[in-house]
Amino acid sequence: MKDNPHKDPWASYMPADVPYKRASLQGHPEYTRVRIGDVIIGGDELVVVAGPCAIEGTEGALEIARAVKEYGADLFRGGAFKPRTSPYAFQGLGDDALQVFDHIRRDTGLGVVSEVMSIAQADRMAEHVDVLQVGSRNVHNYEMLKCVGRMGKPVILKRGFATTVEEWLLSAEYILAEGNDQVVLCERGIRTFEPSTRNTLDLSAVALLKTLTHLPVMVDPSHATGLRELVIPMARAAVAAGADALMVEVHTNPDEALSDGRQSILPGQFEQLMREVRRISPIIRENNVVECSRE
Ligand code: PEP
Ligand code: MN
Repeated sequence: MKDNPHKDPWASYMPADVPYKRASLQGHPEYTRVRIGDVIIGGDELVVVAGPCAIEGTEGALEIARAVKEYGADLFRGGAFKPRTSPYAFQGLGDDALQVFDHIRRDTGLGVVSEVMSIAQADRMAEHVDVLQVGSRNVHNYEMLKCVGRMGKPVILKRGFATTVEEWLLSAEYILAEGNDQVVLCERGIRTFEPSTRNTLDLSAVALLKTLTHLPVMVDPSHATGLRELVIPMARAAVAAGADALMVEVHTNPDEALSDGRQSILPGQFEQLMREVRRISPIIRENNVVECSRE
């Protein structure tokens, strides 16, 4: 029989047999919960990760950590090693920031998320952080993915700015194949023709992932938009689309920040964000809207 030429090409979009065997929801109908101490990503509650783009010093980082903790952040974020587009831009404090993480953990009790940029850094990073972040520029660094898969730590895997959903899930597969299923996928915007925002936040990917994979999904509206005033609206939208977690950049003095000041919100704005997303989240999560969308 000949194929119907009018057949909807999207009808076959959801492949029956996918290459990301371990990440797939097929054969793994339970959604995975990623545990960082008492914090559960992919559970009943929305999880919020907040902090500066980069650790710039002990006092400043502590001040931000205390503020985000006060307003209800679940985890602290901050870069020690920064993947900057320009080699002349601030590259992060490097190893000196690792002691700052210890300080923050002791002072606030918050778990720490930070980006690992190379295999050589992985072991010492793992001693000072609770979650290893793989940034968008390393989502295709397969040797590093295998390495973080073997570290026995939860991993936040950011989407590359030119990475398809399937390529992203295959990158997650590298980590899962090492026996680590504690992986969170973080949508942080993709590069499109639109220059008004730093990237284009692909919220449809968030809802789509809920139909394709059991891994929890995080959204980073800071890197996705590059603009402070868009962070709260996009955080709201991300929660409504089914995100299990948010990651936002917060700075007490964004105009003086050494990186990403333009997209960093002030602690007072973070308080507002928390108030708003904590109201939206139960409506979405308790009514099981996200899980129903799998039908
Ligand atoms: C970051 O989280 O600070 C970062 C560099 O993000 P991305 O890898 O998404 O650009
Ligand atoms: Mn940043």
